[in-house]
Amino acid sequence: MYIKRKLNKSLSTFRGLRFGTTCRERSSHRYRVTIGIGGNVGDVKRRFEHLFIFFKRDKRVELLETSLILKNPPFGFTNQDDFLNSIIVLKVSMQPLVFLDYLHRVEKKFARKRSFANAPRTLDLDIIFFENRVIKTPRLTIPHESWSKRESVTIPLMDLRR
Ligand code: AMP
Repeated sequence: MYIKRKLNKSLSTFRGLRFGTTCRERSSHRYRVTIGIGGNVGDVKRRFEHLFIFFKRDKRVELLETSLILKNPPFGFTNQDDFLNSIIVLKVSMQPLVFLDYLHRVEKKFARKRSFANAPRTLDLDIIFFENRVIKTPRLTIPHESWSKRESVTIPLMDLRR
């Protein structure tokens, strides 16, 4: 069950039991990371729910907080369905590149197919922030290169820690 709110002609938000919630902080892990999640193929809300349950059960991460879900139009290749995006805050003990590999494995598990840039996707996981670190390597840029320019990130981010 989700409560839908229309922000304007193209943007809507959805708040449910698992998205738009704060969890108890147990702090067994060291680093606070903010990830962006997105998708536009199939039942994306259901996939987000499964991802939430997966993170809850996985001892390598601790789920701290989720934002509401934002429905927003695609950019780049625009002839595709709207995207759903949300933010999840986790605690991890992995270093950034190890965590990136971990996220790629999670994407694979949720059957993400890599085809072309900005193509339709089942599940896209991006690291937005990793503590307050600044990283610029060929494989990883943190904070995420375009986080501040994308409503798909900024609107869910503003919803955290209400
Ligand atoms: P994408 O297709 O959007 O998932 O991005 C593909 C590649 O972006 C990944 O294989 C990463 O090596 C690279 N990348 C650079 N910075 C980041 C970041 N902050 N989070 C996730 N991927 C990143």
